[in-house]
Amino acid sequence: KWEEILQTVKSEYEVTDVPFNTWLKPLKVYEVDGKLITVVVPSEQAAIGVNYISKRYKIPLQVTICVLTGMEECEVRFVLEKDLPKKTEKNTSYDKQVQDTRYEEAHLNPKYTFDTFVVGSNNKFAQAAALAVAESPGDTYNPLFIYGGAGLGKTHLMHSIAHFILEHDENSHVLYVTSEEFTNELIETIRNGNNTAMSKFREKYRNIDVLLVDDIQFIIGKESTQEEFFHTFNSLHSAKKQIIISSDKPPKDMEILEERFRSRFEWGLIADITLPDYETRMAILHKNEEMNGYNISEDVIKYIATNIKSNIRELEGAFNKVMAGAKLEKKEVTLELAEQALKDIISPDEKKVITPEYIISVVAEHYGVTPADLSGNKRNSKIVMPRQVSMYLCREIISTPLKNIGKALGNRDHTTVMHGIEKIENELQNDDNLKNTIDILKKKINPQG
Ligand code: ADP
Ligand code: MG
Repeated sequence: KWEEILQTVKSEYEVTDVPFNTWLKPLKVYEVDGKLITVVVPSEQAAIGVNYISKRYKIPLQVTICVLTGMEECEVRFVLEKDLPKKTEKNTSYDKQVQDTRYEEAHLNPKYTFDTFVVGSNNKFAQAAALAVAESPGDTYNPLFIYGGAGLGKTHLMHSIAHFILEHDENSHVLYVTSEEFTNELIETIRNGNNTAMSKFREKYRNIDVLLVDDIQFIIGKESTQEEFFHTFNSLHSAKKQIIISSDKPPKDMEILEERFRSRFEWGLIADITLPDYETRMAILHKNEEMNGYNISEDVIKYIATNIKSNIRELEGAFNKVMAGAKLEKKEVTLELAEQALKDIISPDEKKVITPEYIISVVAEHYGVTPADLSGNKRNSKIVMPRQVSMYLCREIISTPLKNIGKALGNRDHTTVMHGIEKIENELQNDDNLKNTIDILKKKINPQG
């Protein structure tokens, strides 16, 4: 598996995160022809990138491929994406998942599959329903409506369904979108203002076999988005195409939901995910331990499972924090170290306060980057934008002083922070996409607010 090969190069050759994410992670296998393996380098990296990658990583990749696949010898060749011969029928599939662009088109996190989803009493029903739908999409429950609080596994389960269908039916077209993506795409289409853009949008959403819409609560109440979604829903449903929806609440508790939506959402099956009990929390921590190849004392696992009950995202966050603490101090993972690492999270009075760190973690997750990226020095737009959004939200939601915002973001000075906030304020004037994203982030950070 290509992923595994890259990860092995990373650990065997001690490639740190930044070069790994810059050079290795974007590489894709184009084709395998006997012992010649053609690897695609993203066009942005140009010839310099190809030379550098080749000089630095060619041998490590060849060695690792031989070790992991059992090939006797192999030759890796790097090609810029734009120099690839135009697509022809090439089917020497080396790694189906890499070759198959349907996975990318469907926007899926490769880690979120049924295999990695721990089943417990809190999610047993939802998981069974998800699996049933994945096994015969369109034939069982339509729509499948999954609801539950933040960080309890809705997105993981939805991606699992999508992965399963893609794997078992190579002709089916699956599309996963967050309701934010749906909205922003619609805003974009409307701004373009012509009929072809609109009919393209409709065509895209009405010509798929399985549509998954995550966090539907964010489009309810947005008139035009809601209207468009209604039509998409009707046309897919009447064509017996599978629809899967997630939300933070059941339809009956969504106050501003119009009746026509409520009844449609209730046509199929409604499944909830609740808080994990102690056994499930233990099982999830053990799964994390196993997947990362750690071996941690049972005391530590029990300590985390006993104290973090709010949701699975925080449970995993606490686990990672302990592991990072141990790595940083080059120490064994002991109960004492865990207590130290988690002293800010596990507070005696259990009441949740919104801190800059919390805001940063939500923003990072939303944009698919890590909090460390946001505190770090990277300056590419994929990082700078969410970094400035974090600054803006710290100011907006909890009025954090500029100095403290800077501190939470890797000790930046207050003028940088001010500049970042102003930048977002200016862009908000005429960027509806950004406005929509900021609204959603505010609701994610402070659902009561
Ligand atoms: P939600 O969409 O409900 O907010 P996510 O699906 O994003 O929650 O889950 C948050 C994190 O917890 C993810 O990293 C996910 O992999 C993990 N997670 C949630 N439920 C489970 C489970 N049952 N087994 C393993 N990991 C889980
Ligand atoms: Mg989610």
